[in-house]
Amino acid sequence: MSFDIIKGMATTLKNMRRKPTTISYPEQERQLPPRFRGRHVLHRYENGLERCVGCYLCAGACPADAIYIEAEENTEENRVSLGERYARVFDVNLLRCIFCGYCQAACPTGAITLEHDYKLASFYPEDMVYHKEQLLEPMGQATIGSNTVWFEPPSSEAAQPIPQESHVFDGFEASAAAVGLGDLPTEQPALIANEEQDEDRRKLAGGKGEQNP
Ligand code: SF4
Ligand code: SF4
Repeated sequence: MSFDIIKGMATTLKNMRRKPTTISYPEQERQLPPRFRGRHVLHRYENGLERCVGCYLCAGACPADAIYIEAEENTEENRVSLGERYARVFDVNLLRCIFCGYCQAACPTGAITLEHDYKLASFYPEDMVYHKEQLLEPMGQATIGSNTVWFEPPSSEAAQPIPQESHVFDGFEASAAAVGLGDLPTEQPALIANEEQDEDRRKLAGGKGEQNP
């Protein structure tokens, strides 16, 4: 018996007592790590409004050009999100997506997260483009998804990026205030680099910016 056969038999005997590393999927499923990145989910606030404000930051950050958004203005009759706009169309092409999570990291409102759904096979490529209707949490569900394991929660003293319970969004002023042109108080006065340009911006803002010279 050659040495190679003895070596092979020894390896077999050594591994006979070990538990198999394979599982009988789909009857059995593996426990996924908390930061596993699967299919995207769009989230809501507890009042049912959508977190997504149609800002396109996720689409801009996506290295695979996998996100397609069409934003639309909120109106008093049809308020969908807390911002000026909401995503009327939100598609993620999972054939292009490389599950890098850049979209989740770029989102300023925690609207999009990558979750544990990895069963994404399909016979038809068009089925792999997931639409907003498939991605959005159902009404009555308001989670922050995997942001719980990716991001430290902000301290209670930290300024909130969007007005919370004590403020009311009218769809215009809050986001304008963020750039120093609204009539909500800002901590820092807006920096004026160019008087003439700033005058134009005030006119665009309907004179509201005069409170934040
Ligand atoms: S996970 Fe990465 S590739 Fe996929 S949609 Fe988000 S940014 Fe694009
Ligand atoms: S998911 Fe986030 S980053 Fe993308 S458009 Fe909506 S708010 Fe902006």
